[in-house]
Amino acid sequence: MMTIAMDGPAGAGKSTAAKLAAKALGIHYVDTGAMYRAIAYGILTAAPADDAVEACVRDLDVRVDYIEDEQHVYVNGEDVMGVIRTPEVSAAASRYAALPVVREKLLGVQRTIAEQFDVVMDGRDIGTVVLPHAETKIFITADPAERARRRALELEQRTGEKQDVDAIEKEIRERDYRDSHREIAPLKQADDAVLLDTTHMSIEEVVAEVCRLARANHA
Ligand code: C5P
Repeated sequence: MMTIAMDGPAGAGKSTAAKLAAKALGIHYVDTGAMYRAIAYGILTAAPADDAVEACVRDLDVRVDYIEDEQHVYVNGEDVMGVIRTPEVSAAASRYAALPVVREKLLGVQRTIAEQFDVVMDGRDIGTVVLPHAETKIFITADPAERARRRALELEQRTGEKQDVDAIEKEIRERDYRDSHREIAPLKQADDAVLLDTTHMSIEEVVAEVCRLARANHA
């Protein structure tokens, strides 16, 4: 199987690069962040008491499907793709992603997908925990100010509304800290991952490098 694990902090361009590389390589793009966001959305919607969060997570029916190369995540039958990219859901995803019950729920789902398809899977713990034997591992990062600028641009293009770059940088730094310091599956570069600092790279250059590494490892 062709298996590419791509990890890195928020806003480093992982998902854009992974999506384009998947297209160029003719394989599936798997967005694990969307799965954590979907669970967070499910918890926010159910609004359980603190001591009932774990039971709430166990009860959530989370399914992933690929329709015309697009990943869809369903929570209790609802396609949540349109509602999980808000700042509120981002922050909640990062908080709830630290819970063992949440990570256990998604680990099997993610491994099963990688057994069924050739994939480029992006997230925080793919090369370290989910697919430790991935053929290609890439850790994508960029300077936090540059990541905030890119995220603001992406949001502006999607919503048509001007964004506060400083507020986005603050949110990104908070999420980085929480994702890197949690006890379970913290964000970190796998020992055998290639480090790609994209601060001064165009998206085309990043995609070309991802494809080059994947093809070289798959030969
Ligand atoms: O990648 P994205 O920004 O959509 O991820 C949202 C949140 O989900 C991250 O901040 C992180 O806390 C969590 N996540 C994770 N492990 C992954 C993917 C995402 O903990 N493999």
